[in-house]
Amino acid sequence: MDFKLSPEQEAFRAEVRAWLSANLPPDWAARPTTDIPRAEMYEFGRLWQRKLYDAGLVGITWPKEYGGRGLTWMEELIFHQELVLQKAPPPLNILGIGMAGPTIIAYGTEEQKRRYVQKILTCEEIWCQGYSEPNAGSDLASLQTRAVRDGDHFVVNGQKVWTSLAQVADWMMLLARTDPGAPKHKGITYFLLDMHAPGVTVRPLRQLTGDAEFNEVFLENVRIPASQVLGELNQGWGVGITTLMYERLALGFGLQARFQIALDATLGLARRMRRNGGTAAGDPVLRQKLAQMVIDNAVFKYTAARAITRLLKGELPGPEASVGKIWWCDRHQALQELAQELLGPYAQVGRGSPWAVDQGVWQYSFLRSRANSIEGGTTEIQRNIVGERVLGLPKG
Ligand SMILES: Cc1cc2nc3c(=O)[nH]c(=O)nc-3n(C[C@H](O)[C@H](O)[C@H](O)COP(=O)(O)OP(=O)(O)OC[C@H]3O[C@@H](n4cnc5c(N)ncnc54)[C@H](O)[C@@H]3O)c2cc1C
Repeated sequence: MDFKLSPEQEAFRAEVRAWLSANLPPDWAARPTTDIPRAEMYEFGRLWQRKLYDAGLVGITWPKEYGGRGLTWMEELIFHQELVLQKAPPPLNILGIGMAGPTIIAYGTEEQKRRYVQKILTCEEIWCQGYSEPNAGSDLASLQTRAVRDGDHFVVNGQKVWTSLAQVADWMMLLARTDPGAPKHKGITYFLLDMHAPGVTVRPLRQLTGDAEFNEVFLENVRIPASQVLGELNQGWGVGITTLMYERLALGFGLQARFQIALDATLGLARRMRRNGGTAAGDPVLRQKLAQMVIDNAVFKYTAARAITRLLKGELPGPEASVGKIWWCDRHQALQELAQELLGPYAQVGRGSPWAVDQGVWQYSFLRSRANSIEGGTTEIQRNIVGERVLGLPKG
């Protein structure tokens, strides 16, 4: 990868830096941060994304005619680097920006693109992803939600689960079976589902952290106009995989930034916590562990840069992106464990306790990190992808 920026790219970096400095809340850098937007941040997140959009900083690579900026992945990378430097929050509508928007741009009719794309960028409409079901997670093609044609509508019945942000979403990327007689990867259709339609019930699921970021979604005789099919009828598997490819791409940009923010915060914690009359950062054993994290982060950064080089050449992200996901899970979970070690006895007191360090954010991040090896495809599934499609090993 060529790390030298053109004068235009340097100017873009200066623009982003100046804008963030001027627009972040004054106390932002001092806040204890998590890498996941929490419920109390949603309203702020909406307004923040709108401000970013008005400044031309959402949809940096998206076509101008749909509200994007029409720039390259290099500018997208610069934007993420600047977010990290200032510990700025990402836009709220992450599933819309990372997945729904690019899939609609790729498969949508002109009418669909005009209807949905810009509202994703402005955060007027939040999106969620309705793929997983109680009996279809890793083996997604086993999904059972049914959509039956009824004139110019489809009638949908079924259940989705683990649907992040469904509690605030306006639209869902929905996969449903339209031809039960066809082999399981065929006969699936991709719908754009209005979450406010009659028959949609969202029930939050409480997680280990105490938060409820994801939900069960029940669909009972929900009527979807045929104009809200994305791509061809019964060809939804291909469309759905495209969404997952964009998810990997978004992860590729997001995960490195998130890891860097979490690492910087952990280094800060190590300098504050006391150990044997000095700081935890001065403890020889903890110091080695922290240094290893810094080294690992550099490896991650350059591996991600290799993937970006492919994008800049116009290639789409390949199965190699799974390496990044596996790596991030492993290191991020280890980093959160290290933070608990740095806290020592304070690891036992979380949010609500007068002795909690940083308002209990470390306990939250540690518990939340357990989901990393499940969300976005489990580590075992990522290993299968690497084994079969990168290394060319025989199918297990
Ligand atoms: C925080 C979070 C947010 C999520 N958000 C969403 C969302 O917004 N939308 C959505 O649709 N889904 C979402 N999910 C669901 C997620 O995609 C699934 O949980 C995941 O794909 C695994 O599916 P499953 O839970 O059914 O587990 P299963 O597929 O039943 O897997 C159980 C175990 O078996 C292993 N396993 C399964 N198949 C194989 C195999 N072939 N080889 C080796 N091991 C295997 C798995 O690795 C796992 O350890 C979210 C999950 C989490 C934790």
